[in-house]
Amino acid sequence: MRVLIRDHFTCQMVGCGRIEPETSQLVADHKIQHHGEEAMFWDEGNLQCLCKPCHDKLKQKQERAQPHR
Ligand SMILES: [Zn+2]
Repeated sequence: MRVLIRDHFTCQMVGCGRIEPETSQLVADHKIQHHGEEAMFWDEGNLQCLCKPCHDKLKQKQERAQPHR
């Protein structure tokens, strides 16, 4: 939530920059995956505000980038 305020409820995705007053449509995203590491999880420098469509797109891309079993 603090990250959303810091980023002025604006999507930080390059090429989006959407301002979303509805916080349910905003996600605090970890730029670098934290892998359960608490320091990374709470590091605000590692967090960015994204709108939901961008967040979903990003997650899909990351999941696809992972090697298949
Ligand atoms: Zn966006």
